[in-house]
Amino acid sequence: MTEQERIHCDEVVASLLEYLDGELDDARRARIEDHLAECRGCFSRAEFERALRRRLQALATEPPPDSLKRRLKAILDEF
Ligand SMILES: [Zn+2]
Repeated sequence: MTEQERIHCDEVVASLLEYLDGELDDARRARIEDHLAECRGCFSRAEFERALRRRLQALATEPPPDSLKRRLKAILDEF
């Protein structure tokens, strides 16, 4: 890879969310992955964003706790 084909940290950071969303084309994603493999700063940042997203997704898809369901049912049963 020549120096011209390398991308810089600010470019990676700017594309990071699209990268994590899988919205980049293959060529661009490959360049970001190359950069992440060599750049510890961007790698940590990508890992942090990825973990954050996973946590948010888990929160969004977690079923409500049983106690909440029971309380809702109790309320509905009163009608
Ligand atoms: Zn970097």
